[in-house]
Amino acid sequence: MENRVESFTVDHTKLNAPIIRHCGLLDIPNWGNLVKIDLRLRKPNSDSLMSSPVMHTIEHIFAVYFKETGTPKSKIWDISPMGCKTGYYVTIINQSERTVQEVLEDFRSDLIECFEGGLKLDVVPYATEIECGSYEFHSLPDARLEIESLLAELRSKDGFPVVLTADKIANKES
Ligand SMILES: [Zn+2]
Repeated sequence: MENRVESFTVDHTKLNAPIIRHCGLLDIPNWGNLVKIDLRLRKPNSDSLMSSPVMHTIEHIFAVYFKETGTPKSKIWDISPMGCKTGYYVTIINQSERTVQEVLEDFRSDLIECFEGGLKLDVVPYATEIECGSYEFHSLPDARLEIESLLAELRSKDGFPVVLTADKIANKES
């Protein structure tokens, strides 16, 4: 069927985690492209969904690293938690003619730096009533445990692979 949402056409029973999976590409002539990533941190439909406070805290850590304090290789447009609590969607601005493989590998190395910084935090960034929509709905201790586990995967030779499975979707968001 045409016009199906890419994430609903993937066989979730075959998705492993953690992975960095290419899931969409939007070409913008004379500009570059947007690379969309399925950052899958939990195997779908397993018993170990991420908790909402952990997802929320890591979302803040991502935002601060990629948009403010970090020196990432990736130029991030957006990172959004998945409603199924198994990961995040990430959209990267690619105006440097990097291949999708290179964009994914750059993002993988950014994740290591981002998570290493996250482990040094004493408080959740921007978790105040003025700055956040649910400022008490965080867990830095549990987010730390999550990040430590993800860092171990990222540092291992075969852990946290990048996966190129998306077909090019010309001028259409997936
Ligand atoms: Zn928030």
